[in-house]
Amino acid sequence: NETVSKNFIEQIIDKDLEEGVYDTVHTRFPPEPNGYLHIGHAKSILLNYGLAQKYHGKFNMRFDDTNPTKEKVEFVESIKEDIEWLGADWEDRLYFASDYFEQMYEGAVKLIEKGKAYVDDLSAEQIREYRGTLKEPGKESPYRNRSVEENLSLFQAMKEGRYADGEKVLRAKIDMASPNMNMRDPVIYRVAHMEHHNTGDKWCIYPMYDFAHPIEDAIEGITHSICTLEFEDHRPLYDWVVHELEYPQPPKQIEFAKLYLTNVVTGKRYIKKLVEEGIVDGWDDPRLVSIAALRRRGFTPESIKMFVDLCGVSKANSSVDYAMLEYCIREDLKMKRSRMMAVLDPIKLVIDNYPEDQIEYLDVENNLENESLGHRKVAFGRELYIEREDFMENPPKKYFRLFPGNEVRLMHAYFVKCESFVKDEDGNVTEVHCTYDPETKCGTGFTGRKVKGTIHWVSAKEAKEAKVRLYENIIDEEKGVYNEDGSLNLNPNSLKEVTAYVEPELMKAKAYESFQFVRNGYFCADAKDSKEGEPVFNRIVSLKSSFRL
Ligand code: ATP
Ligand code: MG
Ligand code: MG
Repeated sequence: NETVSKNFIEQIIDKDLEEGVYDTVHTRFPPEPNGYLHIGHAKSILLNYGLAQKYHGKFNMRFDDTNPTKEKVEFVESIKEDIEWLGADWEDRLYFASDYFEQMYEGAVKLIEKGKAYVDDLSAEQIREYRGTLKEPGKESPYRNRSVEENLSLFQAMKEGRYADGEKVLRAKIDMASPNMNMRDPVIYRVAHMEHHNTGDKWCIYPMYDFAHPIEDAIEGITHSICTLEFEDHRPLYDWVVHELEYPQPPKQIEFAKLYLTNVVTGKRYIKKLVEEGIVDGWDDPRLVSIAALRRRGFTPESIKMFVDLCGVSKANSSVDYAMLEYCIREDLKMKRSRMMAVLDPIKLVIDNYPEDQIEYLDVENNLENESLGHRKVAFGRELYIEREDFMENPPKKYFRLFPGNEVRLMHAYFVKCESFVKDEDGNVTEVHCTYDPETKCGTGFTGRKVKGTIHWVSAKEAKEAKVRLYENIIDEEKGVYNEDGSLNLNPNSLKEVTAYVEPELMKAKAYESFQFVRNGYFCADAKDSKEGEPVFNRIVSLKSSFRL
């Protein structure tokens, strides 16, 4: 039933449409271009885009670049790339809030003319003092009752650069006794002699976020301005701004809870430090949860969409386990990717009764659960590599893989029986010797006897070497994200690099291409370090999980 599954934002929208408050839905995603987007932003992007789609409305991409101190043009491109990759299509609606500086200025002038804003000479510290506390009303500034004319000319002078930073501000004249601190005459414009990446030195006054944002929304005809919970008590100010500026169909702010993942690092400060210290190789290091990092690790847009949908939209803060994200990528790739053989920790297996120079090309289905992925040929011969852990000299009970005298199935091939093994001087096993039974060939319908273990392998002659990266959480999960001194509690084993033997076909993998390596997980060709014909594989996720929905 559709109505039951609707989230609270959809319910608000339904009501608005029903009551004719709006006749369409128009949302936006408004990042500040001051960093890379992370999984939390993905939730906001997909939520806003998803609502526009669902209601056949529109979705705007808008850079909220009104604050000249923090913004960097370099982030604009990465943010666009991430949003496009997620599949949120803004069509031709890409906007920059800084393009509205003129309208914001006019809005401020309008407020002054209405007697709803004044130029204040108090310092930032005095303003804070005068604002009072929650328990008592604030004190009015001695400049609060300047005449409209005086305010207009002072504001004009601010704009013309006749004051230094901090010397004067423009404040909304609302209510110094309001129980909501945001309504105690908030500053709406400040002097800042600073270059802006878009407008250069055209402006030396800049609007504050709480004043700028509602204007941006109103100019673009946004109907539902969705933001996160920390803006809830800014909403009266949002409403005040659009009301006083008399927009005919003012947008409406709706807040939802941020998405938090447990045991991940998202703070810019921390990631910057990890990059600087060379612990990660950039904002897109596959151990991070920036959208670029998830993409590089091998996550798909579909898996991220599934994840944010599963998280739902709510008003209550909570955090979600990374295992849920892993569940989503497994679910997404399960039917879509070929299941290849790669041996991550190789040991040689020799089939003594298999002809020395013979090679067979076995016909193998790429994905047993999805015929449409077709077949491939896999070379089989006398010498193979298998996983070191698939042989044990003295196995414990319930070990069904290779040990002296035991028979297993070589996946897609034959049954082999372990006859002997070779050790080096240090006692490490270097070779396992088997015999095979030609009768047991896979696909021939052999039912003569059963074996309990199936192991994968690659042909020693044909397999290629490839670098494979195995990841653990960058955080030591036992102890939490932070140490007592506020530093990150890093897991020293978060990256392990091995040389694997893989089917030759895998050497053609292109950047971002992903596969299942049977029994070992899902892997993706790294976009930064792979070269033509020489891929480096990142493990996206292993196959096993204790995660349950
Ligand atoms: P951060 O400090 O982590 O970069 P931010 O709030 O400063 O977050 P903005 O660039 O202002 O980042 O965010 C753009 C949009 O993304 C905003 O609407 C914001 O509410 C939303 N957003 C940011 N973090 C999350 C999150 N963890 N979950 C859901 N939405 C988020
Ligand atoms: Mg922000
Ligand atoms: Mg940000």
